[in-house]
Amino acid sequence: MTQTPPSDVSRRSATSAKADTARAQIAEEIRQRQRFVIASHARPDGDAIGSSLAMAFALEQLGKDVRVVSCDPPPPPMMAFPGVDRIAITDRVDDPGDAVIVMECGDLKRTGVGGLDRGFVINIDHHPGNTMFGALNWFDLSAAACGEMVFDLTRDLGVPLTLEIATHVYITILTDTGSFHYSHITPRTFEICRLCMEAGVSPPAVARSIFDSNNLGRLKLFGAVLSGMQLDASGRIATLYVDEHLTRGTGGTYEDTEGLINLPLTVKDIQASIFFKENGPEDWRISMRSKGTIDINAIAKEYGGGGHINASGCSATGTFEALKPVFEQKITAAIEKAWTASSSSTSQKA
Ligand code: 5GP
Ligand code: MN
Repeated sequence: MTQTPPSDVSRRSATSAKADTARAQIAEEIRQRQRFVIASHARPDGDAIGSSLAMAFALEQLGKDVRVVSCDPPPPPMMAFPGVDRIAITDRVDDPGDAVIVMECGDLKRTGVGGLDRGFVINIDHHPGNTMFGALNWFDLSAAACGEMVFDLTRDLGVPLTLEIATHVYITILTDTGSFHYSHITPRTFEICRLCMEAGVSPPAVARSIFDSNNLGRLKLFGAVLSGMQLDASGRIATLYVDEHLTRGTGGTYEDTEGLINLPLTVKDIQASIFFKENGPEDWRISMRSKGTIDINAIAKEYGGGGHINASGCSATGTFEALKPVFEQKITAAIEKAWTASSSSTSQKA
């Protein structure tokens, strides 16, 4: 009979001693302090909102005072979940409390909230290139979502996995893995999800709320943007484009384009997608997605942006006609690099 290892969801064996020390120090500082401000990145996604609220509910279990702030409102489907309506939308915090916990954010400026740097800043993140801006920094690239790290911390703090905490941890994983599509998913990811379900989370109900509660304008906008999709000569790179004119015509908004960039990747031959969103004249927000080991994060970083190997974003200036071929070229090089590496490792194994 094979022996089943004990069910251990500790991350310790998977991460460095340095990360474990940072995590223990953060737990200790949290125990010692009373008033907390929680923040995450601008244009918050499921991991930003879920990590913030899982942390907020956990701290409240310990009798702490917590304020959650964000410079931008949560995506509308997130409003269905507990505590999301209590997030204060602000670009400035005058009282940073006893500690500021910034999660899921590679750089303090990306919070879009001023005044946080005057507090005792605790930085918890899994984005490559985190600038280690905190008084305490816990960085774990292996986490599939920052919410996995929040889960770890709740364990360290002895906080029970309430339905609210479990719901938000589950949301972080569901959204940040692209519904279990991306890399960084580990057996631990499923172990945490299992515990969230045992705490009462219903995966179909969460998925319905997040993915199946759109307005008609969003669907029409998806149609309009997708019908303008352009493929590069190789058929491997899809480029999408949206501007004010297109959104107004469909009754959708820029926020409604969330998730749209993933759709081209559902085509087998398409390896990467680029989405240009016009901010102003010759001013663009650019999102990129890729499959497997194709690293589009390095491209985003060249433009002062960031993210993950398969999902990154940045800003750029110039005309769409000038920028499109530049990004296509860079992504083509990233695809070639990934494929060369994979064929050489296959031939080495053979
Ligand atoms: P999205 O394309 O959905 O806006 O972002 C994809 C990923 O890239 C997310 O993890 C997001 O946090 C990150 N990201 C997007 N834009 C930026 C940016 O301008 N700077 C940094 N550092 N990360 C970004
Ligand atoms: Mn994340």
